[in-house]
Amino acid sequence: MYRCEICNTVQPPRSRSVRVTTKSRATEYPSRPKANKLRIGRKTKQFDDPGGAGYEIAKEAVACPKCAHAHEVKRAAEEAEGLYDDDNSVTSGLDLSGVSAD
Ligand SMILES: [Zn+2]
Repeated sequence: MYRCEICNTVQPPRSRSVRVTTKSRATEYPSRPKANKLRIGRKTKQFDDPGGAGYEIAKEAVACPKCAHAHEVKRAAEEAEGLYDDDNSVTSGLDLSGVSAD
């Protein structure tokens, strides 16, 4: 039993909840030298963490499956429009699929 944070209605007991990402932000993690320790035989070896960049969840909501599905459809539509677009390879791939080989 929980309250859906999107449609704000109480769901019946023993019904599933879905966590939906309502807001995400671009982030960058620096590399960390000697962050990971791994034992090989008797020796402990240290490995570097390369770090990286990507998107992380900024805000999450507990939603009923119905709202979660609707939210996912909406998010996919926005992604197709290019609001969530992070690199041009996705859009260029879409453009190529739209244009015929001729
Ligand atoms: Zn709902």
